[in-house]
Amino acid sequence: MASKPPDLMSTIVSLCKRRGFIFQSSEIYGGLSSCWDYGPLGVELKRNVKEAWWKAMVTNRRDIVGLDAAILMHPKVWEASGHLAGFTDPLVDCKSCKERFRADHLTDLKKCPKCGGELTEVRKFNLMFKTFMGPLEDNSAVVYMRPETAQGIFVNFLNVQQAARLKPPFGIAQIGKSFRNEITPGNFTYRTREFEQMEMEFFVPPEEDVKWYDYWRDKRLAWYKSLGIKPDNLRLRDHAKDELAHYAKACVDVEYKFPFGWSELEGIANRTDFDLKQHSTASGKSLAFFDEETKQHMFPFVIEPAAGADRATLAFLVDAYDVDGEGDNARTVLHFHPSLAPIKAAVLPLVKREGMPEKAEKIYRDLLDNSVRSSFDLNSSIGRRYARQDEAGTPYCITVDGQSIQDDTVTVRERDSREQYRIAATQCVEVIGKKIKEANLCLSA
Ligand code: ATP
Repeated sequence: MASKPPDLMSTIVSLCKRRGFIFQSSEIYGGLSSCWDYGPLGVELKRNVKEAWWKAMVTNRRDIVGLDAAILMHPKVWEASGHLAGFTDPLVDCKSCKERFRADHLTDLKKCPKCGGELTEVRKFNLMFKTFMGPLEDNSAVVYMRPETAQGIFVNFLNVQQAARLKPPFGIAQIGKSFRNEITPGNFTYRTREFEQMEMEFFVPPEEDVKWYDYWRDKRLAWYKSLGIKPDNLRLRDHAKDELAHYAKACVDVEYKFPFGWSELEGIANRTDFDLKQHSTASGKSLAFFDEETKQHMFPFVIEPAAGADRATLAFLVDAYDVDGEGDNARTVLHFHPSLAPIKAAVLPLVKREGMPEKAEKIYRDLLDNSVRSSFDLNSSIGRRYARQDEAGTPYCITVDGQSIQDDTVTVRERDSREQYRIAATQCVEVIGKKIKEANLCLSA
């Protein structure tokens, strides 16, 4: 096995562009800083990440339901949640080179880490994007692009609880875009100003908060591992008291060892009853849960696993990346878990004659008709075509050769083991479907 390139991030960024995972936004205009577009392979990968999350958090559970709230919300939401006053990062500028830094990312606030120049005083900078609703651009028309999806869940707490007839402990999950005017975006899709979150608010009786916090911390770490992230590249990091967000009693991050260092993938926070109480006071409408049995009102505590779909996708990409072989034979393989792989199977006729393309086309059609995302590749040598599929992370290749015409069998080649075996052409959907199902069995529910 060849070693990985020294500048792994740059290699991954160029692979992403070349193979259509991720492109720079508005590239033909010189690009828009920190904004990225997902191409044909990337959009499948990210959808599969979100689908795996939704399955683990909603579909396969009896105690969690979903929600899809609007991005724009009443401005009072952000006043009550504390984001208007408190969702700030400390900012400093270098007086010489004009570089801007987050003060909490620096160890020495006297000297610019880039040029050694003098730094300005620390200023607080609110991360929320502002815009105007309707034609008038005055203060009464200001609305904010949500910086987290969670508030859409809190303000709908009673709507959902009553409509779905739920009793704590239960959860409400949501996947959607959030926006933060980050001071220092960067590291590819790791920190951007527009990103997608996968958040779940789990409402529990206050006395059960510690138990559920521990439960979700372990569950969320296990989710990344079950989808193939190497355990050595994952760790949990407890927040120190002075690091906690204004609403949190405790918080632990799931961190991934990115090429640029250990960094947060997901935060699991105990948000207490802060949000429900704040919205009750500010709106004048109580969001307390009423227990029909005990006839008591209660504000549940909230345990929140909050993940980023883009950060998770990047971690799955980086972790799957591998270089196989040496020198001229070295080639890139993305070892995606089959349920995350953008393409599950590639159908490859060995040559362009003797009825092979026609036979392969039938298999390809059959896979698509059964919702197995597949591709068809007719050009260049079979070795090159296998290499192209390895680089896209396709777990199975199906080759139609001379023997296929004689006895109606095809060769299946597995990406990770390189193992090859023959199966009946009519069984492709069944065999590939079974393999993906088996791989999914180890997913943590
Ligand atoms: P950070 O400390 O990295 O700024 P955070 O602790 O403020 O992140 P949370 O508010 O806990 O982040 O948001 C939950 C998740 O949303 C994060 O773990 C991350 O995966 C994702 N996320 C937050 N900010 C961004 C961003 N600017 N770009 C991409 N993903 C983000």
